[in-house]
Amino acid sequence: MSLTQDMEEKTVWAGKYKGISFEIQRFTRFDKACWTFYLFILIDSLPEDIRERFWLDPKESNLSFIHYDYYSEPLMSNLDWHSGMTRYSKVTGFDGEKQCVKIGCDYQHIWDEGREYTEEFVAAEAKACIDSLYERIPSIKIWCSRCGKYVDALIQYGKGEMCAACLKKREEEKS
Ligand SMILES: [Zn+2]
Repeated sequence: MSLTQDMEEKTVWAGKYKGISFEIQRFTRFDKACWTFYLFILIDSLPEDIRERFWLDPKESNLSFIHYDYYSEPLMSNLDWHSGMTRYSKVTGFDGEKQCVKIGCDYQHIWDEGREYTEEFVAAEAKACIDSLYERIPSIKIWCSRCGKYVDALIQYGKGEMCAACLKKREEEKS
C-alpha cells in the first residue's frame, strides 16, 4: 500500500499584483484538472464607507454550515470573475487580528468541460479581476508589510517592496 494513495496533489501559485495578493490552485478531481483563483482583500485597505460590504455577516449559520450572501454584494460579485464568484471566506480577522477575506471563482462550469487551462491563462484572468477591482474602487490602499501602514503605492526595493516612508528611513539608516 502506497503512503500517498489516498492523497491528492494540489499545486498552488501565489502572487501579488497591484498590491493585491492572489492565489491560483490546480488540483485533480475524478482524473480531471480543476482550477481556481482567489484574491485576498484586506478590509482596512478599502475606503471606510464600503468596508462592511466586504465583511459579511452570515446569512445562514448552523453547526455544520455557514452561508454568506456574497452574490448580493455587487462590489464583489460584479468583478471580472471566470463565470462568476463562487467563493467567499474570512481568512483572518478574529481575536483583533487584521481582517482579510478570500474571494474567488472556479473553472468547473459546464462550459469549462473539455477545456484545458494553464497557470498563465488563470493568472491573466486573476490580474484582470484585480484590474476590475481597481476600476470600481480606485482609492484602495496597499499594505506596507514593513511598517504596517496602508499607502497609495509601494516602491520596488531589491526583491521586495516598501512604502516611500520606509524607503526614506532605510536610506537614511544606510548613509
Ligand atoms: Zn512602510
